[in-house]
Amino acid sequence: MNSNFQDILIKIPEIGKNMHELMTELFPICRSITGNGVRQSLKIIQNHISLNVSEIPSGTEVFDWTIPREWNINDAYIKNSKGEKIVDFKNSNLHVLNYSIPINTKLSLQELLPHLHSLPEQPNVIPYRTSYYKENWGFCISHNQLINLQDDEYEVVIDSTLENGSLTCAEFFIRGESEDEVLFSCYTCHPSMCNDNLSGVVLCTFLAKYLQNLKLKYSYRFLFVPETIGTITWLSQNESSVKKIKHGLVAYCVGDPGNSSYKKSRKGNAEIDQVVVEVLKNSGDEYNVVDFFPTGSDERQFCSPGFNLPMGALVRTFAPDFSQYHTSADNTEFVKAEYLADTLSKYVKVISKLEDNFGKFKSNDNEEFNKIVSKKNDRIFLNLNPKCEPQLGKRKLYHDVGSQIPSQGGQKILNQFALLWVLNYSDGFHYLSDIAKLSGYDLIDIENAANALLESNLLKEL
Ligand code: ZN
Repeated sequence: MNSNFQDILIKIPEIGKNMHELMTELFPICRSITGNGVRQSLKIIQNHISLNVSEIPSGTEVFDWTIPREWNINDAYIKNSKGEKIVDFKNSNLHVLNYSIPINTKLSLQELLPHLHSLPEQPNVIPYRTSYYKENWGFCISHNQLINLQDDEYEVVIDSTLENGSLTCAEFFIRGESEDEVLFSCYTCHPSMCNDNLSGVVLCTFLAKYLQNLKLKYSYRFLFVPETIGTITWLSQNESSVKKIKHGLVAYCVGDPGNSSYKKSRKGNAEIDQVVVEVLKNSGDEYNVVDFFPTGSDERQFCSPGFNLPMGALVRTFAPDFSQYHTSADNTEFVKAEYLADTLSKYVKVISKLEDNFGKFKSNDNEEFNKIVSKKNDRIFLNLNPKCEPQLGKRKLYHDVGSQIPSQGGQKILNQFALLWVLNYSDGFHYLSDIAKLSGYDLIDIENAANALLESNLLKEL
């Protein structure tokens, strides 16, 4: 191993503590996909690395999406008739449905209840909920609090603004000998939660901080962008230069106590896939490796069929497989310095290996798909929006309150995940039966998804 990388690895336990400190500093800030919380967070990160920050105005079209209006919040609470604050945004920013429009009114319990979100399976925690693309307001509280609410008149205040503004993205770039790039991406939009995803933010910050002092063959780019909309924005604005990206990792959920896990790129056998698996194998720790699946985080966009970048996700426990996921329990106690340090050491080893392999690895890009054989009674489609995922919400194909598993309402609802599978694999190479097999969903779910996407003009039948 390159001795420069050894120098970083020796310092890893100390860097882990620094990562945890930065995470703790960023934790209280109320972030969202737009707004001052992200800007304030980036300013704090700038104490460690000098970011290049850009503001993309509301209304800008980015592929199938439009940058929404900017959301900011000053305060929010619910008071009972005695004037006691029973829910207070100042105690936890998760209490407010993220992107809530302003409200200042008095309501009965019956009128208030439809606006309250809780998690009956975990009655002590506050859930995290969002409503970015449908105007709504709400509060998130523990289920125990919800079931004990009395009939009363409640004063409900959300002091927020939703106005034209911009979406904030940041990059950090290290120029190496070659123009070929390695991309690391993390998302900056989640409010007070640590594993998802301040862990990824602090990992990218410290990886960049230590990498910038080394002599490197590859160039390295770090993205600090809001999940989904930020990544789609970045890809739409940098479409012409994505061909420089030779390897990449999406960093999230990198600080929980679980084993390291790797989700392969959509290519499945790219150099990054092989290198990460080798590093995990050599670590002596237990680990998991899974094939690409088109749900999850920003790898969905990087590995959409129109880009199909060699990017995987090196995480610990995948969301939503830890019970703290999207709740107030995903806090600075749950994520520990030693786990952050351990994941960082694996990232450093991956980079060291990529640098060693530079110029030696033979790509097998063209062998990606077997020749397609026509199948009787099976259907095959082409995704007409192959660059990033289309916005399903505006086509009424997606539930409105984000960050929850879609509920089974009275009427038949589409399998949301099946929609993403059909979109990602409708590349002219995969039949519906192939997609059913890859996804593990019943063929009927896949067919229903394909029919709905066809109706919305997102697919063409071949
Ligand atoms: Zn999340």
